[in-house]
Amino acid sequence: LVTRMRPFTSTIFAEMTALATRTGAVNLGQGFPDTDGPAGMLAVAKESIDGGLNQYPPGPGMPVLREAIAEHRTRYGTAYDPDTEILVTVGATEAIAASLLGLVEPGDEVVLIEPYYDSYAASVALAGATRRTVGLVEEPGTGRLGLDVQALRDAIGTKTKALLLNTPHNPTGTVLDRAELAEIARLCVQHDVIAITDEVYEHLVFDDLEHIPLATLPGMAERTVTISSAGKTFNCTGWKIGWVCAPAGLVGAVRAAKQFLTFVGGAPFQPAVAYALRNELPWVDELRASLQNKRSRLAEGLTEAGFAVRPSEGTYFITADVRPLGFTDGAQLCRELPERIGVAGVPVQVFTDHPEQWQHLVRFAFCKKDEVLDEAIRRLRALS
Ligand code: PMP
Ligand code: GLN
Repeated sequence: LVTRMRPFTSTIFAEMTALATRTGAVNLGQGFPDTDGPAGMLAVAKESIDGGLNQYPPGPGMPVLREAIAEHRTRYGTAYDPDTEILVTVGATEAIAASLLGLVEPGDEVVLIEPYYDSYAASVALAGATRRTVGLVEEPGTGRLGLDVQALRDAIGTKTKALLLNTPHNPTGTVLDRAELAEIARLCVQHDVIAITDEVYEHLVFDDLEHIPLATLPGMAERTVTISSAGKTFNCTGWKIGWVCAPAGLVGAVRAAKQFLTFVGGAPFQPAVAYALRNELPWVDELRASLQNKRSRLAEGLTEAGFAVRPSEGTYFITADVRPLGFTDGAQLCRELPERIGVAGVPVQVFTDHPEQWQHLVRFAFCKKDEVLDEAIRRLRALS
C-alpha cells in the first residue's frame, strides 16, 4: 500500500457496523435510515429497469436528472445550466474525490473543518494534497459547536487552494449560520480559494433554521463547487446518486477526474431521483419533521442515561459527552458498548487530527424507527 493511503485501510463505519452485527447491538453508529424512500420514486426506479434503462447513461448524467437538479437549486436563488454546470456522480463521495482530484495539485493545501467526514482526509491524500484542519469550538452557554473564525483566518493563506466545507455538519449536527458563512466567504474571496461544499443534509435542518448554500453569498458563485446527493434526502443511501453544481470551468475539471474514476453510474436510479426532486419534496418535509422528533427523543434519552448532549441543529446525528458518566475515552467506550450493553455509536475523535481534543464525544445516529431508538435508550440507561 502506498504511504499516503496507509492511514486509511479501514473505515470506522465498516468497523462499527461489523461489531454491531456480530454482537446483535442496536446500530446507532453508521448513519443510514431503516425505512424506504417515497413510493413514487421507488416505482420510477423499477419502471426504469423494466423499460430497459440498464446501459451506460450519458457521461455528465441523464438530461432529465440534470434538469431536475438545476430546478431544485433555484429554491436557493441559484441558477445552473444543466448542460454545462451540472455533473451527476456516484454519490457525494465521488463528487468530493473528483473535485479534489480535478482541482487541487499535489502539495496544495486543503482546509477542512474538524471534525470532518471521514472520506475528506482520504480524498485529500489521494490528490496528493496536504490537509489543514480548523476545529469547531463549543460556544459558551449553549454548547453548540460553532465555527472558530479566528482559527479559520489563521489557517487560510497563500498555500490554500481549496476549503472543503460541510453544512449541515456530520458528525456534530451544526448548521452554519449566515454570519459564519459570511466570514468563510470573505476569506475565500480574499485569498482566491475554491470552496467545495458538501450539502448532502441540505433538507435535514431542524427548529426553523435555514440551510444556506455558500454559493449564494457575495463573490462565491464563481468559486464554489456545490455538492449534494439523493441518499439522505430520499432515504436511498444505497443508490449512490450525487451531483456537482458549479461554473462550467470548475465542473469541467471535476468531470475530467470523474470520467476515469467511474465513467458513469446508476442509470435506472437517475430518472427516479429526477422524479423525486420534482415531486417528493412534500415527503421530505415529513421526513424532516419526523427526524426532528427523533432528534429530540434521542437527546432526551441520552440525557436521562447520563450523557451531556450537544445541540444538533440538522443531519441525523447527535453528539454526546461521555464524561458525566465517568468515561474519558469515547473510542474505548464505543469499542466496549456493543458487547457491554448492546448499542453501537461512533467516536467523534476518528473524524479529527486531534483525538485528544475530541475524545469525550460520541456520535449517535437517530435516523431509526422510534422503537429502535427506545430500545437503544433503554439499554443505554444501564450505563449509569
Ligand atoms: N458527506 C457527508 C457529510 C456524509 O455524511 C456522507 C454519507 N452519508 C457523504 C458525504 C456521502 O454521501 P453519498 O452516500 O452520497 O456518497
Ligand atoms: N455517512 C454515513 C455516516 O456518517 C455513513 C457513510 C459510510 O458508511 N461510509 O454514518
